[in-house]
Amino acid sequence: MVNPTYEKLGSAPSMIRELFAYGLRRSAEVGPENVFDYSLGNPSIPAPQPVQQALLDVLHDTDPIQVHGYSMAGGFDGTRRAVAEDLTHRFGMTIRPEELFFTCGAAAALISVIRALTVSPDSEFVAIAPYFPEYLPFVESNGGKLVSVPADLDTFQISLDILEAHLTSHTQAVLVNSPNNPTGVVYSRQTLEGLAELLRRKSTQFGHPIYLIADEPYRELVYDGVEVPFLPTIYPNTLVCYSYSKSLSLPGERIGYVCVPSCVEGQADVLHAVAGAARSSGHVCPPTLVQLALQRCADARPDLAAYDANRRLLYRELTQMGYECIPPQGAFYIFVRVPDGDDVAFSQRAKLEHDLLVVPSTAFHCPGFLRLSYCVSHDMILRSLPAFRAIREKYQ
Ligand code: PLP
Repeated sequence: MVNPTYEKLGSAPSMIRELFAYGLRRSAEVGPENVFDYSLGNPSIPAPQPVQQALLDVLHDTDPIQVHGYSMAGGFDGTRRAVAEDLTHRFGMTIRPEELFFTCGAAAALISVIRALTVSPDSEFVAIAPYFPEYLPFVESNGGKLVSVPADLDTFQISLDILEAHLTSHTQAVLVNSPNNPTGVVYSRQTLEGLAELLRRKSTQFGHPIYLIADEPYRELVYDGVEVPFLPTIYPNTLVCYSYSKSLSLPGERIGYVCVPSCVEGQADVLHAVAGAARSSGHVCPPTLVQLALQRCADARPDLAAYDANRRLLYRELTQMGYECIPPQGAFYIFVRVPDGDDVAFSQRAKLEHDLLVVPSTAFHCPGFLRLSYCVSHDMILRSLPAFRAIREKYQ
């Protein structure tokens, strides 16, 4: 016998993964140059040179027993120190090494924080739709409830009135992801200050803190100088879940952290609960090699020129064809409105008739749009344009 909930989760199809697998099969059949795969958010630029060099240097100059050994549960002191210094330097708020708990990417950071904040079967976690599909199993597998709140469907900023109507005495946290997957929108300072004011007011009303969980794997992926405020400076009860998967193109290295700054109410308890939650789900001792490398290059940042060129090309061409695109400000996604609102049918047609793989936004709990991941080659985008044009013409 197996647990039916997990059996169902493990056998349930993922729209994104299925599209990707289909693309691999079709590439073998018709040649990779004839398949236009916008499905996965897998970085297409290499890790920055200092990061590659640091990884090589660690392998060369460090005792292999240490390189391949365990670290402390929440990461090496040296790694925590280097990253804490970098954060303090960048965001004008003192972050101490012990306020960071290193994890295997943002997924493990989120699970640990959600588990730490789930206090009863009534515990509610609010997500702004469209949202990263894994939030649902992350919350439900820990015994809580996910409450889906639609974003403003014109700007994809948070609609504070709608959010307010969904906050209850059981709300433990609001999950925000900016720069956003799948919309590419960055929440403005005005939105975040309004959110902070709302959460302060509601925390007082309900007599307990409503935490903000800042899911930030795309923090550094922004264009045109758009500001990404550091949320703890706006709302003190913020727990930051960070990942190097996208920012340093290291998804396979599985490295990220939870940051619980000193402004969080009950900081010591929260830190202990995060550590305990990580321990209880086996999310401890993230990979040592990449931790040791990060100690040497905590200030490394990506070169976004290739993503930016893709972003500009897609936005310009698609809008000229008559598609309505949400102006992409960050991450490496562009969100496109489907002319007749049927995102699943569009995606299906694009796949079967043109080998064009785009994710229907139903996968993100907000139908009517398509997500295109532009972490692909510039050349693939150019070759895919006739397919987008041909489909658009069918909607005239
Ligand atoms: N959160 C969001 C919004 C994401 O898009 C992703 C990955 O795509 C994750 C979390 C998980 O990231 P990681 O690879 O660091 O576990």
